[in-house]
Amino acid sequence: VEDLLSFIDASPTPWHAVRETARRLHDAGYKELDEREAWRLAPGERAFVVRGGGSIIALRLGARPSLGFVIVAAHTDSPGLRVKPRPEVAGKQLALGVEVYGGPLLHTWLDRDLSLAGRVALRGGRTALVHIPRIGRVPALAIHLDRVVNTEGLKLNPQTHLRPLLALDAELEPSAFQLRLSEAVAEQGEDPEGILAWDLALFDAQPSAVGGARNELVFAPRLDNLASCHAALTALLEAPARDETQVCVLYDHEEVGSESASGAASQFLLSVLERVSALDSTAPDATARALARSFLVSADMAHALHPNYAEKHDEQHAPLLAKGPVIKVNVSQRYATDGLSQAVFAEACQSVGVSHQRFVSRNDQPCGSTIGPITAARIGIRTVDVGNPMLSMHSARELCAAADVGPMIRVLTEYLGRASVPDPRA
Ligand SMILES: [Zn+2]
Repeated sequence: VEDLLSFIDASPTPWHAVRETARRLHDAGYKELDEREAWRLAPGERAFVVRGGGSIIALRLGARPSLGFVIVAAHTDSPGLRVKPRPEVAGKQLALGVEVYGGPLLHTWLDRDLSLAGRVALRGGRTALVHIPRIGRVPALAIHLDRVVNTEGLKLNPQTHLRPLLALDAELEPSAFQLRLSEAVAEQGEDPEGILAWDLALFDAQPSAVGGARNELVFAPRLDNLASCHAALTALLEAPARDETQVCVLYDHEEVGSESASGAASQFLLSVLERVSALDSTAPDATARALARSFLVSADMAHALHPNYAEKHDEQHAPLLAKGPVIKVNVSQRYATDGLSQAVFAEACQSVGVSHQRFVSRNDQPCGSTIGPITAARIGIRTVDVGNPMLSMHSARELCAAADVGPMIRVLTEYLGRASVPDPRA
């Protein structure tokens, strides 16, 4: 659990999550591959590939790379507020213009100490990852000025009501925003004069913590889906080697639909798998044969039963916190799971003595989706959608159970190390 908290706190943005993942892989002996170069890899070797800064694929080659792939997928991005290209909104005071990324619970961004982090693009193709602590806050409107907010609900206009207040004097040149950004770039040893553009996200400044009356709860931002990224990565590092190639893919852009050059709808994964299966086979059908012998576990967080809203779940399929990994089923393929793919995951759970749960949404409630069905549709391999149960999904500060962290890692480790892939004809 402590390791998960430090992973989350090191990963305020997808770009930081990839840097932290790459750092851990590097420390474990993985070498970085460049998509622009030819890859020279031997069986058993470990490597990783980054695309677009926010997506990463880690591989441990099997004894026979073309024999197939056991894959775990998750996503690095989280819903929230991103900084617009011309962000200074100067009224009497200086506010920051933001754009909504994905589907955050907007009210959770009010009255939180907000930090800023992300990637700055500099002259000459250079980039810097920056972090600016406690740059501002989106103040809630006092109840005296909105007497019905508690009875009729809070209505937020995303254009006008979500701007953080940064500074009290809007006239100063350079602006407080430019000043802090320049300082952050200089701290990274880069020339602030070279700033051309950026991808910057706001995030809650409060560090992750363990809490609850018996320290059973994890209070943290971005559990969806950094908790799954952490579990997938840790499992890859711990799993015993096998003949098939083990793969961990962490995608950016899930929260906005995955349609991007590096998201789950891209050919990033397929392109990497093609290059790997070509390592020990020159046959034109090597990739097709390898994919037919492959399996994917798509790990994304699941909706635990909410103590105050029990009616939101199907009573037979209402996962509880601390009761183990959840297998997600939706016959309309909002989840890619089928009976055989459920069996692969359930067997891995059994093998390591971990109990699992099932989730099916109510028929009168629309079902969310995730990277599982998108990846399955793109590369045509059997997939199961799973995830640990959580509450407050898409809040600026989410909640899961400490007791679920270790079991998911053990199950994914067992799957990567030993699970057998079902016959694709079945
Ligand atoms: Zn998610």
